[in-house]
Amino acid sequence: MPRQDHDDDDILNVDDELVVLLERATQAYKDGKYSLSLRIFTKVLDTDPFHKQALFFKKKIDRLAGTGEIELRTMSDEDVCSWCDGEGLCVRCGGSGRCPKCLGEGFLENLGKSCRHCRGTGQCQRCFGTGSCFRCEGSGEEPDVEERPCPVCDATGDCSVCYGNGKCRNCMGEGWNNLLDEPCSHCQGEGTCTACDGNLKCQVCSGKGKISFSDME
Ligand SMILES: [Zn+2]
Ligand SMILES: [Zn+2]
Ligand SMILES: [Zn+2]
Ligand SMILES: [Zn+2]
Ligand SMILES: [Zn+2]
Ligand SMILES: [Zn+2]
Repeated sequence: MPRQDHDDDDILNVDDELVVLLERATQAYKDGKYSLSLRIFTKVLDTDPFHKQALFFKKKIDRLAGTGEIELRTMSDEDVCSWCDGEGLCVRCGGSGRCPKCLGEGFLENLGKSCRHCRGTGQCQRCFGTGSCFRCEGSGEEPDVEERPCPVCDATGDCSVCYGNGKCRNCMGEGWNNLLDEPCSHCQGEGTCTACDGNLKCQVCSGKGKISFSDME
């Protein structure tokens, strides 16, 4: 296709130093803007079979960046998130956000009880149901900080099930099921929050309100 060849030559003149091989590109939507992170692997030689492809993508990206709709950032290997390798996706659930143990059901059929792995939420506990890599928040870039606010308790450190009051959410601490007129089956009549066992702390951050990446690795 000669026409396309001509277009490609145009871009080569614009910037032949920075040719981006789009092997990895991640998109994140934040603050009303799409940001596109590109991983520059190598300068692509014009003898490289990917050369044309790379130029084509570069042109497309330059155009998008020119509209102001995306913010363009380029990454070197050191900047790439060490968890997701720049993909931006949660490696545990593959981006689905579902708990891999119960497949998002929150319930284990074979055991007949709620999934302990996700505490019955059905959400992946690595990304907390977002599907994005927790370390880089989906940007694909290695973050500067070593910890992030706990998304489960909203950084309060309180148990997310009883909101820090220690009471069973099913019977409100009564220990009794008034409808059935029998002890609450959820807490075995104890009235205590089954998620935190009455210690009031967020189960994910242990009450610290933040999660350090090393805790999760
Ligand atoms: Zn689960
Ligand atoms: Zn996940
Ligand atoms: Zn990441
Ligand atoms: Zn927490
Ligand atoms: Zn609790
Ligand atoms: Zn109860």
